[in-house]
Amino acid sequence: MTEAIPPSSVPAAGRSFKELPLPPGIHATLQQLGYLSMTPIQAASLPLALAGHDLIAQAKTGSGKTAAFALALLTKLNPRRFAVQAMVLCPTRELADQVTQEIRRLARFADNIKVVALCGGTTMRPQMASLEHGAHIVVGTPGRIMDHLERGSLDLQALNTLVLDEADRMLDMGFYDAIAYVAKHCPVERQTLLFSATFPEGIARLARQFLRQPQEVKLLEQHEGTKIRQRFYEVKHEERLQAVGLLLKHYRPVSTLAFCNTKQQCRDLLDVLHAQGFHALALHGDLEQRERDQVLIQFANRSCSVLVATDVAARGLDIAQLEAVINVDVTPDPEIHIHRIGRTGRADQEGWALSLCSKSDQRRVANIAQMMGSEPEWHELSELQTGDDAALVPPMVTLQILGGRKEKIRPGDVLGALTGAAGFTREQVGKITVTEQSTYVAVARDIASEAVRKLSAGKVKGKTVKVRALED
Ligand code: ADP
Ligand code: MG
Repeated sequence: MTEAIPPSSVPAAGRSFKELPLPPGIHATLQQLGYLSMTPIQAASLPLALAGHDLIAQAKTGSGKTAAFALALLTKLNPRRFAVQAMVLCPTRELADQVTQEIRRLARFADNIKVVALCGGTTMRPQMASLEHGAHIVVGTPGRIMDHLERGSLDLQALNTLVLDEADRMLDMGFYDAIAYVAKHCPVERQTLLFSATFPEGIARLARQFLRQPQEVKLLEQHEGTKIRQRFYEVKHEERLQAVGLLLKHYRPVSTLAFCNTKQQCRDLLDVLHAQGFHALALHGDLEQRERDQVLIQFANRSCSVLVATDVAARGLDIAQLEAVINVDVTPDPEIHIHRIGRTGRADQEGWALSLCSKSDQRRVANIAQMMGSEPEWHELSELQTGDDAALVPPMVTLQILGGRKEKIRPGDVLGALTGAAGFTREQVGKITVTEQSTYVAVARDIASEAVRKLSAGKVKGKTVKVRALED
């Protein structure tokens, strides 16, 4: 039923958006966003999506999948019709927020396209009010969308596009039934676009049930071997966790993502790293959304050296600067391995992919090598130079200011407070992230305590604020 497109016929990236039947005004918007040509997944999927086909598309994180479906649904949208015409299901609030923002950015070419996010963790009432005011596009998590359908606050009669984004992760999170419920409430005459980074069996089941003669677009990652340098270290199983510290001391990456196969191993590794004096945090399914946001902000700010995570917890995570990925265990699935290491070596920076393998992992390494078409490069732990180097310390510290969007704080207010009255330079201040309740700002480590003192003594947006440094 499905029709696979052989890789050879996948159009090359770098083709212009102008070749596509997109709404005329959109090209100026794309230009403003710096989207000068299509990414490979966009070049492969957009012509099919615009021709009205259902689609199963697979490509790694950061490949531009959002714009691929956003442009397809925006092209069909009639802004003068005040009804929900497209819906995107996402696994988490965080991802739904990202998708909402990307669609809003792309929708600038037309006036008044309303995009509403419907996620759990916040009250229903404001969401119901937004829906009453008329929404063209809704983006949300399956559970919350289901709630709205049950209460009758979301009407899908005019829907013509359903998107399942990060479908594999939604299944991991146990959303199969919720997705099925939502899909059954959509009109039968619709286009369904499914995006996923991997293809577990559940995806085929979803596709059989809810997609109609889908076209398949699958982009296996082609990493240029020059950017990601991959090394395998043979270890005894009981040496694994200690070996992570040796790798960190030798390679001294500023930011490292360490993958474990189980949650328990994440906890154990975190303990070992803390005992060795590393600044490390863990990302796991038991975190509340707010805690998860905080961990990610600290890591993205370069104020935490190591983020320890399982594949499930790290799905969808896109980190701009990542010097190393460490596989504490080799995963049995070569596709997952390639996906893991593809997170480093972005944007023409070099990245290390370091894997710890015991004798029993050899088969897995052989499968990976076969899939990547390269010989594995083996090294010994004894080569690692871990002498009397200074401790690995992150260059930045994240400060948390109590007060955020609710208090109408904007990044400029915080930057102003730090570079104005407090007298710091622009170079000493890093990323500033404003969330609903808090504002996070990265500052150079050597000014952190002084910055806390001066911010607490001074004012942000005319008000005194509570400030603390987040250190593990
Ligand atoms: P994915 O969903 O595949 O993980 P995203 O849709 O989040 O990836 O896109 C990753 C990044 O690439 C975003 O910052 C987005 O703005 C950017 N991007 C998307 N399409 C293009 C393009 N055609 N040209 C340049 N940048 C793009
Ligand atoms: Mg995405």
